[in-house]
Amino acid sequence: VVSVKGVNKHYGPLHVLKDINLAVGKGEVVVVLGPSGSGKSTMCRTINRLETIDEGEIRVDGELLPQEGKALAKLRAEVGMVFQSFNLFANKSILENVTLGPLKVRGMKKPEAEKLALELLAKVGVANQKDKMPAQLSGGQQQRVAIARALAMRPKVMLFDEPTSALDPEMINEVLDTMISLAREGMTMIVVTHEMGFARKAADRIIFMADGQIVEESTPEEFFTNPQTDRAKDFLSKLI
Ligand code: ATP
Ligand code: MG
Repeated sequence: VVSVKGVNKHYGPLHVLKDINLAVGKGEVVVVLGPSGSGKSTMCRTINRLETIDEGEIRVDGELLPQEGKALAKLRAEVGMVFQSFNLFANKSILENVTLGPLKVRGMKKPEAEKLALELLAKVGVANQKDKMPAQLSGGQQQRVAIARALAMRPKVMLFDEPTSALDPEMINEVLDTMISLAREGMTMIVVTHEMGFARKAADRIIFMADGQIVEESTPEEFFTNPQTDRAKDFLSKLI
């Protein structure tokens, strides 16, 4: 579903992504780990063109990433993204937050969009909040709405960049559980997280990044019990 080949990116003198190669198959859950500043967010953001690249190619479902215009809007719709901050539209109700994309980008009719939104809000467990405004929800609830909003676009892949980092501890699990059920339903997912429990449980594959490079790629089992590089060993020793 996602193919990244020979991608390099610089921020001025900083070589932030160094020859990144990554292929993510349909239904696969890839968890990206690595120290702060290693380029995890930047890599995610290049996949839906929130960031440009200097070299290489990125394909989503076989199609090269468009530079701009309508094709880019279409691509953005196919790549769902959930960030650390929930980014809901503060002046729109929960229901409106989820129907907006299908109405504007997918050209859906209102009754159809609302039906879809209610299904998705029920799936993430917040259907009873539909008429509230985002500020009236807890962080965990808001993040689940953000997931429903991304799903409403029927994405081919979902990118999560530290979706639980801004949450109070008691709300982390409700979001992780939502992600785990999504993974079980066969959603293709790329997840940047510091939640090692999630990585062990849900990942088909672990990508470990350091200094803008993918330095290790293995199953969770291999990665946690027998890391190959000193960077990964060092990273794991600093956890907990
Ligand atoms: P964290 O775990 O802290 O989120 P990360 O692995 O996601 O880290 P990135 O956010 O991808 O790391 O950043 C990689 C490097 O690129 C860092 O050194 C960062 O300072 C730098 N960087 C990120 N965004 C920009 C930008 N817009 N301009 C210049 N440098 C940037
Ligand atoms: Mg980051």
